[in-house]
Amino acid sequence: MSRRETLHACYDALLAAHGHRAWWPARTPFEVCVGAVLTQNTSWKGVEKAIENLDAAGALAPRVLRSLDPARVEALIRPAGHFRVKTRRLANLLEYLDAACGFDFDALAARPMDAVRGELLEVKGVGPETADCILCYALGMPSFVVDAYTRRILSRHGLVPEDIDYHELRDYFMDVLDPDTALFNDFHAQLVRVGNLYCKARSPRCDVCPLSFMR
Ligand code: SF4
Repeated sequence: MSRRETLHACYDALLAAHGHRAWWPARTPFEVCVGAVLTQNTSWKGVEKAIENLDAAGALAPRVLRSLDPARVEALIRPAGHFRVKTRRLANLLEYLDAACGFDFDALAARPMDAVRGELLEVKGVGPETADCILCYALGMPSFVVDAYTRRILSRHGLVPEDIDYHELRDYFMDVLDPDTALFNDFHAQLVRVGNLYCKARSPRCDVCPLSFMR
């Protein structure tokens, strides 16, 4: 099988097993951006609580969040962990979004993806995974998101080396798949599901995993 066929077979098996994952769990593009920063180095559970706090404070609107005192933001996002660093990173991202598009996400989404990606990567605290989450899930652009789960799953099947870096792993998908935002959106979500349910760090549950046919 070619790489493209392997990846499509993998996605088809996951879609059949799980159905569409309907990601990202957010109501607005701005909420995706906030979640993409808050989820760095932490589980989604704490992020959910932080987002709830921001929502209750009316701070899931960009200009409101930007107007808040940093100490107030720190208190609201505390459940997401690393709250001081993440408060600074949110402020950096807000500053960029305001300057780049005045928080008009449709206008940002209308620009060339590589240009926006380059600008996001210039924002202090926005790494490639965060940038690609924003591009794919907030802006609807065909940027494939990869993460530690992706690396573990593919390397366990001998498809990529264990130490492959972020951009090489992203290219593994983007070099052969059509630039299809709906596919990229759901494929990443499916791989996260595999990582959560089956492909555990210490004891993979291959016997019940939908990807066991690839072994
Ligand atoms: S749990 Fe097993 S079959 Fe599933 S992705 Fe991981 S290594 Fe592959």
